[in-house]
Amino acid sequence: MAKHLLLIGGGHAHMVTLANLHTFVEKGYNVTVIQPSEYHYYSGMGPGMLGGTYHPDDIRFATRKVVEDKGGTFVLGKALTIDPDKQEVTVDSQDLPIPYDVLSCNAGSYVPKTKIVAETQEIFTAKPIEALLDAQKKIVALSRDKEVKVAVVGGGPSAVEIAGNVHQLAGERCEKKVTVYLFAGQKLMKKQGSRISDLAKADLLKKGVNIIEGVYAKEIGNGKVVLENGDSYDADVIFPCVGVKPNDIFTRSGLPTGPDGGLLTNKYLQSVKYNNIFGGGDCIYFEPQPLDKVGVYAVRENPVLYHNLMATLDETSLEEFHPGGKYLLIYNLGSGIGVFSKWIVTFAGKLAFTIKNYIDKKFIDEFQAIEK
Ligand SMILES: Cc1cc2nc3c(=O)[nH]c(=O)nc-3n(C[C@H](O)[C@H](O)[C@H](O)COP(=O)(O)OP(=O)(O)OC[C@H]3O[C@@H](n4cnc5c(N)ncnc54)[C@H](O)[C@@H]3O)c2cc1C
Repeated sequence: MAKHLLLIGGGHAHMVTLANLHTFVEKGYNVTVIQPSEYHYYSGMGPGMLGGTYHPDDIRFATRKVVEDKGGTFVLGKALTIDPDKQEVTVDSQDLPIPYDVLSCNAGSYVPKTKIVAETQEIFTAKPIEALLDAQKKIVALSRDKEVKVAVVGGGPSAVEIAGNVHQLAGERCEKKVTVYLFAGQKLMKKQGSRISDLAKADLLKKGVNIIEGVYAKEIGNGKVVLENGDSYDADVIFPCVGVKPNDIFTRSGLPTGPDGGLLTNKYLQSVKYNNIFGGGDCIYFEPQPLDKVGVYAVRENPVLYHNLMATLDETSLEEFHPGGKYLLIYNLGSGIGVFSKWIVTFAGKLAFTIKNYIDKKFIDEFQAIEK
């Protein structure tokens, strides 16, 4: 019987594998891709979609279409557990588990709900990226009837990008006033260093975003953000942006994981225990060198993951993944303004956003083209 390659998630680390899916089929292998949506959204452009710079079609990959056009099988659903001994995966939409010979996991990360005391309708986590579109619709709809209060909880890049882009949305599409509160914990963009922090803060303050620093949020829910000092803020829409954790499928399945719960992989992006399980992106813990949860690493992993999946099916040798040096980050603060940072070069302004927009669109165009 033909060997079966099973992919959980068509995320950023599976782009090259999906683009070359036909090469597996041509060799006589079966390929199945499981994903809860027919589309995969490019997170780097998610805040821009929230702000209205991009239409959802501009920032998503048509995973089902690509898979089916290239001879694979697409399963709409959420992978729930992996049984490495039986070599099968359970999926919420399927009665029977899906068997595999080689498995690759690119199932991303989620925002932990630790501070959320009530899962009420006004809460929109930064992941999945699709939720940002729902949030956009809600803010615009509410603003037809009343002034809207938006709370962003978190002091890191996604919080900053969401706050800036809600401001853009308010200016371009909302009928009544939108007030944005950014609960930044101890200090805005603390981990990114003082220069980036100062540039981001200056831009957001100029836009009228209310930045609250020096105190952490304690509870989110029931239309409120309550801080550790007891202060309480009402909000119509709340974005918890308090960091991400790897998909919990690995801990649920009892596979070896890193301290954050990500699939523990060796230098070949291969499970340290099961040599037919691989992974990439936010859902893995790369044992040789823990990696930041940024799309940059997922993208860099692509060619190695593709090679190693094919090599395992073909029973040839694996390639090592080398994470590479310092990476470029550009934060989208909305209204065409970005903050650029690489090596010692850091600046804010329109040029930074123009560069980000160019890089992001190039990436999207490269992989969206495969559906045609
Ligand atoms: C608002 C925001 C902005 C960001 N901006 C940037 C940026 O500009 N640059 C940068 O480098 N990084 C950025 N990041 C970080 C970046 O999002 C992640 O590092 C990146 O998305 C990781 O890619 P991934 O493919 O591992 O995960 P994801 O992009 O989350 O993709 C995972 C895929 O798996 C699917 N999936 C999830 N669960 C299951 C399941 N159970 N079964 C099957 N499929 C599943 C999902 O539908 C999705 O398609 C940003 C993050 C956020 C939240």
